[in-house]
Amino acid sequence: DKTPVRRALISVSDKTGIVDFAKRLAGAGVDLISTGGTAKALREAGLAVSDVSDITEFPEMMDGRIKTLHPRVHGGLLALRDDEGHLKSMTDHGIDGIELLVVNLYPFEETVAKGGDFAECIENIDIGGPAMIRAAAKNHRFVGVVTDPADYETVLGEIESGGALKDETKQRLAMKAFSKTAAYDSAISRWFAGQLDETFPKDFSMAGRLDDVLRYGENPHQEAAFYKTGDKRPGVATARQVQGKDLSYNNLNDTDAAYELIGEFGAEKPAVAIIKHANPCGVAIGADMLDAYLAALRCDPVSAFGGIVALNQKLTGAVAEKIIETFTEVVIAPDADDAAIAAFAAKKNLRLLIAGGLPAPDAPGLVVKPLAGGFLVQSRDSKVVTQDELKVVTKRAPTAREFSDMLFAFKVAKHVKSNAIVYAKDGATVGIGAGQMSRLDSSRIAARKAGDAAKASGASESLAKGSVVASDAFFPFADGLLAAAEAGATAVIQPGGSMRDDDVIKAADDAGLAMVFTGARHFRH
Ligand code: 5GP
Repeated sequence: DKTPVRRALISVSDKTGIVDFAKRLAGAGVDLISTGGTAKALREAGLAVSDVSDITEFPEMMDGRIKTLHPRVHGGLLALRDDEGHLKSMTDHGIDGIELLVVNLYPFEETVAKGGDFAECIENIDIGGPAMIRAAAKNHRFVGVVTDPADYETVLGEIESGGALKDETKQRLAMKAFSKTAAYDSAISRWFAGQLDETFPKDFSMAGRLDDVLRYGENPHQEAAFYKTGDKRPGVATARQVQGKDLSYNNLNDTDAAYELIGEFGAEKPAVAIIKHANPCGVAIGADMLDAYLAALRCDPVSAFGGIVALNQKLTGAVAEKIIETFTEVVIAPDADDAAIAAFAAKKNLRLLIAGGLPAPDAPGLVVKPLAGGFLVQSRDSKVVTQDELKVVTKRAPTAREFSDMLFAFKVAKHVKSNAIVYAKDGATVGIGAGQMSRLDSSRIAARKAGDAAKASGASESLAKGSVVASDAFFPFADGLLAAAEAGATAVIQPGGSMRDDDVIKAADDAGLAMVFTGARHFRH
């Protein structure tokens, strides 16, 4: 439709750029109508503006809750200009057409972000703005709706060069308008859910907001974007990138896995996790951070190449110097000192993220998993197994050292793709078996890796000797457990609950192992 733009209604909270935009509209012969604050700003700039209240013959009232909610406004936006009946209604009721709507909404999210109280946030829910945007977008054949200052220039260009907006421009503006109102209502709904301590929205369109379009997805031929939920817990979504290339889809995924894992250890003792393809290839707690890093690296130095390193305490210069000896994609830590930042500066591509704090392992949250035609949503695995929950099921009880290594290994196993088998000794993983379809294979792989790590570090016997072993789910048969005993594990931590628990316990007793059941499993697929 070639309806020329004769009248524009401008009602904006964020007034940046509006005066210049309105000046050029006026210059192109467009009549301007505005709400209180906007009209004032335009008048102060010397522009002739009609007040909406003069058109509606109602004052703005109820603290601005009612400004534009009137048939003279909505009729002007919604009337089909090629419909006899609509045109008659316009004449009968003194409604004049509006061909351009320029609106940006009350700053709801900004009010939440700056800590506005409940009443203040509620008052910043724009009612008339979204109503007008939706009306104009619905009637996009005849009305252009501008909700983003980035579109001012295109719109002016078309009006100045012919008076009417192109159909495709109006359609694109309408599409954008509906995504604006949808995002706006989503933000309100998410905030409201938070006020009510609802952490599991049943309507998932409310759960995220587009933050960034990524270069590509898991593979270069896939498109990808990063959506943020607004959850402020420390992690990839809230961290500050100090240096390095843009984070890719895989970087974000792996860094998230790394930081969620390191969060399990709190900030008390220095801990380091090295992640590849979202699985840990080495995790350790140390007397100091350098110790922890070297112990984590020793577990699987081959896989650590091109990995992600997560730390639970401030990154220091000495540790940063050590990290850059191995090719590393991303480092994430709660903080970094100047020496660390200086050490990394030479490695232009290495991404350093400062998260400000650690994620709480027991925090609530959501996990989404896509499948063809939909997605699954579940609450995050916030279970943290403590020593008093462990049930000793073998004749031999674990020693204090075994208990401590078992709890450590089970925490790591929670973050390893199933089937997960983790050998650990002295607060460090020594062999990790991940993602196998049989638990026995994961056990064998973990044991083999412990042998490889021993060779690489020049140790005379497998690092699994005298270790403990953790399994993310029960051993369905004794074979996986026996593979662990053979590799040198002396104690086992596993959920228990198999039909054949008795066989497995007997095998453990026969092999002189100590074994505990956690009663909780940590599948991760
Ligand atoms: P102004 O600063 O011009 O007084 O107000 C502009 C803001 O008011 C815009 O953000 C616009 O979306 C909003 N607005 C326009 N009409 C109405 C209405 O009838 N009710 C409410 N609550 N907000 C409105």
